[in-house]
This record gives sequence, structure tokens and C-alpha cells, in this order.
Amino acid sequence: MIPTLPDPASTRRPGQVPYKRIATEEAFAPPEMLDIYRRLLDGGDADAGFRGLMGFYMSSPSERAQHIMRCLTDLDALRLQHMDESGIDMQVLALTSPGVQVMDKATAVSFARIANDFLADAIRRHPTRFAGMMAVAPQDPQAAAKEIERGVTQLGLHAVVINSHTKGEYLSDPKFWDIFAAAEAHDTPIYLHPNALPVNMLQPFQECGLDGAIYGFGVETGLHAMRIITAGVFDRFPKLRMVIGHMGEALPFWAYRLDYMHRATVKSNRYDSMKPIKKRPSEYLREHFYITNSGVAWEPAVKFTQAFMGMERVLYAMDYPYQYAVDEVGMLDAMDLPLEDKARFFQTNAQAVFKIA
Ligand code: CA
Repeated sequence: MIPTLPDPASTRRPGQVPYKRIATEEAFAPPEMLDIYRRLLDGGDADAGFRGLMGFYMSSPSERAQHIMRCLTDLDALRLQHMDESGIDMQVLALTSPGVQVMDKATAVSFARIANDFLADAIRRHPTRFAGMMAVAPQDPQAAAKEIERGVTQLGLHAVVINSHTKGEYLSDPKFWDIFAAAEAHDTPIYLHPNALPVNMLQPFQECGLDGAIYGFGVETGLHAMRIITAGVFDRFPKLRMVIGHMGEALPFWAYRLDYMHRATVKSNRYDSMKPIKKRPSEYLREHFYITNSGVAWEPAVKFTQAFMGMERVLYAMDYPYQYAVDEVGMLDAMDLPLEDKARFFQTNAQAVFKIA
């Protein structure tokens, strides 16, 4: 029998466990970034996807939106209290989506540095509770590469977060590849996190309410990961490591058909944009990606992904504060897995991937 979903309203505290729980896709927002967002929303420059996402969270009087805005901006008492209540030992923090990627180039470059300094300060205040991923501005790939160097060597940050497309452009375009070169050179993983859908993709999702985290985010981020794979990025950067959340944005479940149709498409020479690459799409997924279960506290999906990716490549994430569901932690603790595999899932894989001591 397939276990059903937990009741999201339940707040049962998780029990003591013999491993640390490290949550690896946890969002924050410096108040100063929200000021920039407010100016973008007021000025009419914001695209429809951003307006639908942050326009909602920043102005809705709903309890959910108010709660999320309160939690996003706190990197001290409230967040630590929620971590204690949900049994989370450590959060790996990332600037909330879309981060700097909706800003103009100059603002994005300078605010990425401000956000990374802000994050590094929070980690210095709470070094046993927080680790973090640096934001970069894909709008300026050379500046992003420099910030990756600074983030790793000076700030001690543990990964790079990129919130999927940047104004409708994808990292599969070689103009962005300085970012991959820097991440590979500094052996720091890139977490490819969802963004609001680009304008030319939004309408059929938004008109039925499926554009957000419910479905559209996963479709668009999975597409982005596939574009990176089929563009040959990993042939060019053989040591590049990436992370995707939300149970791999369903790509493991697609893998058989992705491999079959990729081969058939390349062989038939149907697209100039789909050239031969050295391996099958599924091989790049299993060799270059790590997958977190953010937002998917569902044992059959976790186990399938572990079987597909290998036990070392599937990591725990909560997706705080967007999915602060205390009960899900206990449900994942209770998965029918040997203790050593649960320790890999909750703790040691995250320590290895993000180089957390
Ligand atoms: Ca998230």
C-alpha cells in the first residue's frame, strides 16, 4: 500500500534521533531586498511571473503570506525557535527566489554581494545552526564568477543558488558558462532552485492556478536542468556538481523516456540545438546531480529517488518557511530504512555535498 500524505495541519513534534537533521533548501530575505522588490512592483517593471509570486506574498493579508514574510526576514530568534520545534539542527540557507535575478544588472551584482555579506553575518552569529549558499547575478556572468570566488574563499559559503531562468534566459546558453567554470574551479555545487515562470510560459499555467510551487515551478526547473544536460554542459565541465530540489523536479521518474527520446532525437538530426553528448541524460543526472526532497515528505518518492540516484545523492530539505510542516519531519524519521541510510539522508550527505564540518 502507498502511504498517504500527512496532515499538514498537524504539529506533532519530532522525537530524538541519533543523527543530525540538516535541512538544505531553506529561504531567507534581507529586508533591504524587499525594499528593492517593492520598488520593482510599484514601478511597473516587474514581469507577470514575479508580480504573481512576490506581489502576492508581499501584499496579501492572508495568514500564510504574513507568516512567510515574517519568517523569511528573521535569521535569529523566530527561525531558531521554529528549527527547535521541528527538530532541525541546521539550515542551509538560500536567498529566497527570485533573489537578485529580477533586478537590473548593476543592482543585481551589488545586491548579491550585500545579501552574501548579510548571510555570512548570520552564520557567524549562529555557526552551529546555519550554513549558506551564495547568491550571484547571472545577468553579469563575469561578476558572478568573481562573487563565487569571494563567497567560497572569503565568506566560507557552501554552494551557489541560482533561481532557474534569469528574465527568460537559461544557463544552457554558453554566455553564462563562466558561472559553471567558477563553480567547478572552486568545487562548490550550484543549487538550481525554482523561479516564477517566465512570461512566455506563464499563461496556460497561471489561468488555472498551476504556475507556482504546486506544479509550474517543478516543470520549469526540470526543463532548465534538462537544457543544461542536453547542451553538453557536463561534457565541458566534467567536475561540475549541481543540486535540484522537490524530488529532482520529477526528472528521475522521467529518466527512461528522456534517455530513449534523446537518443532518437539526436539520431534523426531533428534539431540544431540538440547535438550528440557523451552520455545519456540519466547518466548526467546520476553523476552530476544531488536531489533534495524539499516539499515532498513522501516515503515512496524518496525511496524511488534513492534507488535511481544512489543512497549518497538524496538529501533532506524542508523548504522553510514556504512549507514549514513540523509533522513531515517525524514522518521522514519513520521511513522504513536502515538507520545508516536515514543518517545519510538527513545528515552525512549534506555534510559531504556542502562541505559542512
Ligand atoms: Ca524553496
